[in-house]
Amino acid sequence: MAQRLRKPIASPDAVAVSGTSPLAAVSQLAGVRIFDVGQGDAIAVLGNAYRERRPVLQLDYGGRERNPFALHTDVDDRMPVASGDVLMLSHWDEDHWCSASKGSSARDASWLVPRQLTSPRAVLFSASLDDIHCIPEQFVGQTLRYATQGDDYVLWQKIGYFPGAFAKAEDCNRSGVALAVVHRGVEGEEEAILLPGDAPFDAVSMFSWLAGRGVKLRGIVAFHHGAGTHWSDATRDLLRNWTTPGRLDVVFSCSQPSSYHHPDEDQYRALLPDANFQRTATARAQSMVQIDLLF
Ligand SMILES: [Zn+2]
Repeated sequence: MAQRLRKPIASPDAVAVSGTSPLAAVSQLAGVRIFDVGQGDAIAVLGNAYRERRPVLQLDYGGRERNPFALHTDVDDRMPVASGDVLMLSHWDEDHWCSASKGSSARDASWLVPRQLTSPRAVLFSASLDDIHCIPEQFVGQTLRYATQGDDYVLWQKIGYFPGAFAKAEDCNRSGVALAVVHRGVEGEEEAILLPGDAPFDAVSMFSWLAGRGVKLRGIVAFHHGAGTHWSDATRDLLRNWTTPGRLDVVFSCSQPSSYHHPDEDQYRALLPDANFQRTATARAQSMVQIDLLF
């Protein structure tokens, strides 16, 4: 098969990555909002800011196959992003960013993205944004923290290296960004919602680090839209043995049907028999435009 044409994202590196926080005005994190975008991901971290629950940090803004957007304004209406809010990309596959090229509000966000080899279309789009910066490669593998005013925080990690502009290919799922949203409950115990993007769990070292620290597992947006591939024994052990705060929600963000045969829900059900499972496609059938996974 012919090699697809790949080009590097050419935006400048971010100058300040550690030491700043887009959550500095937020008192507490409420959970995450998984938008129904068809096949793809668009997830907002919800904060309690100025006494109301609202999106405070966006991860991905995609939706390709079977997206629900009839009009360009539908994108802005359903997935509002305030000007200057931080929008992070897990990686540059089209199902994780392409709704931003349809709507307009996400264009005014402050984009923080992995430098990757990707489609010429993605490179062209990235070059059209006024405020976009790449995560410097020196942070690869490190766990970075966005702190709120309270005890809650978001951890994130660029999980793999950019192979260089002249590399032939890159496995973008394994070199992008993953997040964990952590909240301290009234009992003082911490719980986490995991946002791995399309990265297999064992590629994200901070997940097992969180489990080892006794942070409980509250929710997962299933990696790679619930794909049945790239499971390892380490992933199974990690999820099976991870203590929950009494309820575990697993959300699949994918279209129905999905030409990629996502999700493999049976695999999750066999591993996590007590968890609650939701799909964005099912939410759509019930006239919902999003699923809120709250602490
Ligand atoms: Zn994807």
